[in-house]
Amino acid sequence: MLEIYNPDIIIVGAGNAAFSAAIAARQNGSEVLMLEKTEEKYMGGNSALTIHMRFAYNSFDDLLPLIKFPESSNELSQFEIKIQALKNMVKEYTEIDYLNDINKVTENRSNQNLSHELVSNSLNTIQWMNKLGHYWEPTFENPTSANVVSFDGKGYGLINRWKKIALQKGVKIIYECSVIDLIKQNNNISGVVVNHKNQNIKLFSKSVIMACGSFESNPDMRAKYLGAKWRNIKLRGVPHNTGEGLEMALNYGAIPYDDWSTCHASPQDYNRPDFDLPGKNKSGDYWSRYAYPFSVMINQDGKRFIDEGETWRGLTYAKTGKAILEQKQQMAYQLFDAKHRSEGVLNKYKNPTNYVSNSLSSLASKLKIDNINDFLSNINNFNNSISSEHYNPHILDGKSTSNIIPKRSNWALALDKPPFEAYPVIAGMTFCYGGLKTTINGEVLNRQGNIIKGLYAVGEMLGGLWYKNYPSGGGMMAGAVFGKKAGEKASTN
Ligand SMILES: Cc1cc2nc3c(=O)[nH]c(=O)nc-3n(C[C@H](O)[C@H](O)[C@H](O)COP(=O)(O)OP(=O)(O)OC[C@H]3O[C@@H](n4cnc5c(N)ncnc54)[C@H](O)[C@@H]3O)c2cc1C
Repeated sequence: MLEIYNPDIIIVGAGNAAFSAAIAARQNGSEVLMLEKTEEKYMGGNSALTIHMRFAYNSFDDLLPLIKFPESSNELSQFEIKIQALKNMVKEYTEIDYLNDINKVTENRSNQNLSHELVSNSLNTIQWMNKLGHYWEPTFENPTSANVVSFDGKGYGLINRWKKIALQKGVKIIYECSVIDLIKQNNNISGVVVNHKNQNIKLFSKSVIMACGSFESNPDMRAKYLGAKWRNIKLRGVPHNTGEGLEMALNYGAIPYDDWSTCHASPQDYNRPDFDLPGKNKSGDYWSRYAYPFSVMINQDGKRFIDEGETWRGLTYAKTGKAILEQKQQMAYQLFDAKHRSEGVLNKYKNPTNYVSNSLSSLASKLKIDNINDFLSNINNFNNSISSEHYNPHILDGKSTSNIIPKRSNWALALDKPPFEAYPVIAGMTFCYGGLKTTINGEVLNRQGNIIKGLYAVGEMLGGLWYKNYPSGGGMMAGAVFGKKAGEKASTN
């Protein structure tokens, strides 16, 4: 039987945004109750499948305190050597760099108030998390990109630390408890209706912070807002973010904000499962096929269809899923040769679906390519159009093509050294960019631009930051920044 009591703040969901809000509110003296739809073992939402947060830093000195060093003296000395090497390579990733990346990938459509708030609070929110007991580990790859460190234990480690910190601080969490409606009294949102063990129960509070994801796991909503092709897409994440949080808020006067017709979707193994659930040693990148910037990516017509190496993978992968979905049979192939293999760009592909052959024509005959001669001629043109820059997969090397469409901006390597490898890929749905209109503290606004008293929305539910594309690590950082701010603000109610 559900224990009924009236906390100051009810938080809907138990992902990263929810925990950030819960702990910030608790630190400010509020009684906090979190309500999570799933069983305890699958808690954490999409956040439990993640890798990292994108934040601004001034130098490696901002990263060093975040890193957990090994305890054994043997490992420690090796680790310190690697850290020193990393320190020599890492430069700053400033707030301006971060804002520029957001503006570039969203075609300047990100709400500037929100993106400024995100960027300028990113490092101090990371430091707050670090003080609470979170750690990061260096990735040692691409030290000149923005993603130099990732969560210790990945998203699952992060969520389990969040849970431990929350419980230690006296936050209460109820699982298998779906929020099905909001309660409005005297013009204030003052509680929720939950379904727990087949019983509907009312719970009252001064404020409700909604952090229960977007509508990515709801086929009907995907078809309605994103288009028919998105109905049957496989999810990269959990099947629980079915959009009812957004619908409830809209029923109480919230307004849909920014672009409900675009979303984050990325290249995934052709045979990936329909969705993923959080678990130890499971992370969402297992099925991801993110070596495409180094590949030649073709569709069933044997044609390239994007600039695979436009820039860092973290700034292109979220739109690449849609590009794949738009191809014949909604799939594509990533092609590599022996040079790619020896450069190590395929090291992260664990148990992938793939085809290997000693000639391009025999490889093509194993794939569903409609016209093998066209395919061979396209690859020949690609091979002959490559510039003479030195190939280096760890930097934006400028090794590009000329006089072919689409152009290739970086990491262009001829496909000419067998064995050749092909990886069939599909699009995997990550989350939707549309959300609710809020203040910079996550307070939900109505059509008149007034705050709906007592109602907050954070994480995937907060709209206005992303449009068409997205910088990797932005979602988790936004969840932490705006979750913390909403928790602090709600505790002043
Ligand atoms: C595989 C994968 C990898 C990713 N990697 C990264 C990454 O490395 N970096 C990054 O920044 N972003 C990443 N993302 C995106 C990131 O996961 C999201 O931006 C972020 O997790 C959103 O956090 P959230 O708290 O809003 O939602 P979630 O973490 O999904 O939490 C929502 C919670 O609400 C619960 N819920 C839903 N409906 C209800 C209801 N009615 N009542 C009660 N509870 C409910 C759900 O069960 C869930 O636990 C990744 C996403 C996926 C799928």
